[in-house]
Amino acid sequence: MARHREARLRAALNGRVISPDDAGYDEARSVFYGGIDRRPALIVRVADATDVSRVVGLERDGGLELAVRSGGHSGAGHSTTDGGIVLDLSEMKNLEIDTEGRTALAQTGLTAGEYTTAAGAHGLATGFGDTGSVGIGGITLGGGVGYLVRKYGLTIDDLLAAEVVTADGELLRADAETHPDLFWAIRGGGGNFGVATRFQYRLHEVEEIVGGMLVLPATPEVISSFVEEAEAAPEELSTIANVMPAPPMPFLPAEHHGQLIMAMLCYAGPIDAGERAIAPFRALAEPIADMVKPMRYPEIYPPEQGDYHPVASGRTMFVDTIDRSVAQTIVEYLKASNAQMAVAQIRVLGGAMARVPADATAFAHRSSRIMVNVAAVYERPDEAAVHEPWVRAFAAALRQGEGGAYVNFLGDEGEARIRDAYPGSTFERLAAIKGRYDPTNLFRLNQNIPPATEGRTTEQQRTSEGL
Ligand SMILES: Cc1cc2nc3c(=O)[nH]c(=O)nc-3n(C[C@H](O)[C@H](O)[C@H](O)COP(=O)(O)OP(=O)(O)OC[C@H]3O[C@@H](n4cnc5c(N)ncnc54)[C@H](O)[C@@H]3O)c2cc1C
Repeated sequence: MARHREARLRAALNGRVISPDDAGYDEARSVFYGGIDRRPALIVRVADATDVSRVVGLERDGGLELAVRSGGHSGAGHSTTDGGIVLDLSEMKNLEIDTEGRTALAQTGLTAGEYTTAAGAHGLATGFGDTGSVGIGGITLGGGVGYLVRKYGLTIDDLLAAEVVTADGELLRADAETHPDLFWAIRGGGGNFGVATRFQYRLHEVEEIVGGMLVLPATPEVISSFVEEAEAAPEELSTIANVMPAPPMPFLPAEHHGQLIMAMLCYAGPIDAGERAIAPFRALAEPIADMVKPMRYPEIYPPEQGDYHPVASGRTMFVDTIDRSVAQTIVEYLKASNAQMAVAQIRVLGGAMARVPADATAFAHRSSRIMVNVAAVYERPDEAAVHEPWVRAFAAALRQGEGGAYVNFLGDEGEARIRDAYPGSTFERLAAIKGRYDPTNLFRLNQNIPPATEGRTTEQQRTSEGL
């Protein structure tokens, strides 16, 4: 049976099929996070959208579990499977840049770093996240919060169209006019609705930025003042502040102990205005290291170690404020962890992201002011028993109001947390669209939205009303 399936796929596809007997299987099955050690029956490195349609067509009716992989960074391990098929897009890396029209057509096997480097050669950019090796597939479908979030919004705010192979094997174009319900859903609803094979993005002129890492001592006073400054800063400035015990890094003086704010700053605008915007952060305390400087935008993604596979537990949430007492809680929890690395990541939002109406896309947390991600990184998966309770307690201690969740930072946390990612009527609306495009839940290895059968009427009504 397995041999038969393998032969059928090999005969049908332009791309490669990798089985457990093939050299390179172990490398091909590995994903970014350590501790996710699954053995797919086959890994299919598709070559084009036709291959994707064929895999979907062959596996749809009673086939094996299907995992879809772009960059392989899912923290929940959704892009691999035990005994199923990995549809691996990583060899689909075509990129066409229209410098005049300021748009890009990108196949979904590209990473954020690859796209950014290529666009950057023309002084253009689309915003992704803080890490170059993340796939444009996963980050875009979940929203995309990064270094340009306050200036240009989420990645999905620059998504003009997508090509998606849906569960019936058809390749659809989704944009504001064509399949607008699907286009709404894939902007935040993740991989629930099909396999995205190509995205069309808007590009912005982002030639030089003032950016890089600023390291400050993490006292409660400095943490809360940092957040205050980040909120008051011009929209050109987006910040990602990692509060953590000092890691052993060559640029940190050996005598330095205690907790640090290792902040990444990115000012996307004129250099002199950038220097002025960053001055208040430099004045919060004597910087321990200051690597913020004018640079070309792609330099914000430094080279990464390919063999880095951290094991981690994490929680994501939104909060309204990080005042002195919240900052004090952060410092205390970090002090209490004995993980290899413990971190509270603070991302001040607002700006362009907040100006998009909450129901314009499936990412509904538009008015959330600050995203906080807490995480423990450790060596072996069995240490989760120690660190997972700490992560849970830390997240509970920081929770303010609804809390919510950013889908791209969710782990395998259950349905209630998926609902946290899709507040108000968002979840029901997504379920209705799922019912239309994937009624048998073929695409279920994701932060899954079960297809609704009833409720379709309401959704159809909304669509016909032009929503
Ligand atoms: C080190 C690190 C840093 C990160 N930083 C940021 C950040 O700054 N900002 C941010 O917003 N997020 C960030 N993330 C989260 C990241 O956006 C998500 O993990 C994202 O889902 C990863 O995308 P991927 O394609 O690499 O992952 P994959 O594991 O390949 O895919 C993740 C999910 O998306 C689905 N999927 C992927 N591609 C497709 C496709 N083409 N069609 C259909 N479904 C698809 C998969 O099936 C899976 O469910 C970070 C993650 C890591 C590990």
